Amino acid sequence: MEKNGNPPSYGWSNGHMQAPPAAPPSYSQAVGGVGPSSPYTPQYPRTTGPQIVTTVVPLGPQSTHMICPSCHGEIDTASKKKPGLIAYIAGSVMCILGLFCGCCLIPCCIDSCMDVHHECPNCGAHLGRYRR
Ligand SMILES: [Zn+2]
Repeated sequence: MEKNGNPPSYGWSNGHMQAPPAAPPSYSQAVGGVGPSSPYTPQYPRTTGPQIVTTVVPLGPQSTHMICPSCHGEIDTASKKKPGLIAYIAGSVMCILGLFCGCCLIPCCIDSCMDVHHECPNCGAHLGRYRR
């Protein structure tokens, strides 16, 4: 083990700032060869705290994977289809037009007239509604 003996040959090429890709820096060079004009700026410490994502997830017709704002759990929303405003309007229009024989209930059964209500399966909070 030679500490401060003959410097290795690549010690003279210090001004090139070209580190050999495969060879690790020698210990004597790292201890004794600290350049004065190289202020070491430490990197910012990573703040690896728990990130609370409060982004509003756009709710679609299917169940959506999101963070529940009520119980803060990672859940898949329970989607329930309920007849929306369009279904009631279309049903009342059909009643006015004289289609009494249960046809006014058809829009309440048409899938495209249904709103999708999203609820949290854990706490049952109403998370939103997808209106078609
Ligand atoms: Zn919840």
